[in-house]
Amino acid sequence: MNIVVVGSSNTDMIIKVSQLPAPGETVLGGQFIRAAGGKGANQAVAAARAGGKVTFVARVGDDMFGNSAIDGFKSDGINVDHVVKDAEAPSGVAQIMVADDGENCIAVASGANSNLSPQDIDLAINAIGKADILLTQLETPIPTIIRAVELAKSFDKKVILNPAPAHPLPDDLLTNISVITPNETEAALLTGVTVTDEESAARAALVLIGKGIESVIITMGSKGAYVHHNNEGYLVPGFEVDAVDTTAAGDTFNGALAVRLSQGEHFRDAVIFANAAAALSVTRVGAQPSVPILSEVNAFLN
Ligand code: ATP
Repeated sequence: MNIVVVGSSNTDMIIKVSQLPAPGETVLGGQFIRAAGGKGANQAVAAARAGGKVTFVARVGDDMFGNSAIDGFKSDGINVDHVVKDAEAPSGVAQIMVADDGENCIAVASGANSNLSPQDIDLAINAIGKADILLTQLETPIPTIIRAVELAKSFDKKVILNPAPAHPLPDDLLTNISVITPNETEAALLTGVTVTDEESAARAALVLIGKGIESVIITMGSKGAYVHHNNEGYLVPGFEVDAVDTTAAGDTFNGALAVRLSQGEHFRDAVIFANAAAALSVTRVGAQPSVPILSEVNAFLN
């Protein structure tokens, strides 16, 4: 099934630490890992590994990190015709610390991601016209996201918006979204409702539905995901696993979800599959290296 992902590509520099440093504190870390990341790229990879036919629309720098990211996309079978090598800005970089309990903290230098423009989206018009689903996030400029969503809607395509990182959004963007997938923090920012459990997730979901979004999925870490779809609200519980690194859990969830919805799967089943793919990803370190392939998710579910 054809999925177009519009979004960021970064190279992640990961240091494992026993606990995250407080402001002003230096901690002596352990292992260092360099891995491909960026929310857009992670979601593109997750969709490809879940069995989707993926076109990625992005910008990287004309440098070693950009080249190695593109090589990675190609090895996952992703169409890179719309991954532009920016002549001016370097590839995006993220500095990540991952603690022993799996918690992380991240700072991103966006580089070429900041130059992804509405014109880049227009150049991908054929891919968007042929797609079943457009999947996007908020690590690239908002006017670019708005253009992508408008174009997809003009072709009557389903749009999944993962509103991450947390950022306020114009209401007229939200009315064009088929499925929004905030985590608890992002849901709180978009609705004013503090989300901690099923009851508060239900209230936040109703606020988002009130903004004209068709379906809402609030991802809730190990608790799973709260769904509001077709006038029905329910929690789809997460799978119990030993978490070592939650980086890209949300991205794995979104990529896997997009594939299953593009295949016309029942909404709840698509969320169960996405929970399973994401649970597997938290058992491994890194962003794209942690994303499971379809056979692994199927084996986990059986
Ligand atoms: P991240 O920013 O760490 O990538 P996120 O904050 O975007 O993640 P979460 O809600 O934390 O998103 O996680 C997304 C999904 O990943 C959850 O809905 C769940 O399916 C799965 N998940 C996350 N953490 C765990 C965990 N500890 N155990 C099992 N599943 C998990």
